[in-house]
Amino acid sequence: MKRITAEGVNFLYFDRESLIDFHTLKLNAEVQGEYIIDEFAKFHMTQDNDFRLSAFRLPPSRWGGSTVYLLYYLYWVSHPQNLDLLDTKVSRGQHTDVDFEFAIKTTATNVICKQCHSIWSTLTFADADPYFDNLDLFSRKVMMAPWLTCPTCETPFRLQVVKIFNQCNMSWK
Ligand SMILES: [Zn+2]
Repeated sequence: MKRITAEGVNFLYFDRESLIDFHTLKLNAEVQGEYIIDEFAKFHMTQDNDFRLSAFRLPPSRWGGSTVYLLYYLYWVSHPQNLDLLDTKVSRGQHTDVDFEFAIKTTATNVICKQCHSIWSTLTFADADPYFDNLDLFSRKVMMAPWLTCPTCETPFRLQVVKIFNQCNMSWK
């Protein structure tokens, strides 16, 4: 895990290895969203290489001066390079804004299709969460984020799903 700045935003970047060890890290701050770090995430981290864990600090003035981080999956809409190479660049302090140009903040969500009621494990665009250090960034990120449809019936999801991992075995029927 490393504190970095990219695109004018200061945040914590977790490389592939530090995601695996997340629960042993001592961030010395309140962290909200730890529930997203589960076996599921670890599994997909080994299968796919298009997202990383990140934590963005909330403005202290909104939380009585205390340090609070929110966790997200940073998902690359397109990525010209292997993210393992980015891990190396970050560890050496050699990353640039370009490396994060196509990265968007997302959360892990189980989404149900309103039409066919199938349930999917997804990453969804964090559409209520601005980038506090650079407020102009949000509008550019929302424009580049895809909005996927249900793989079964092609109905648009209510949430802005940007990545689908797999279908869940649970059912609402
Ligand atoms: Zn459907």
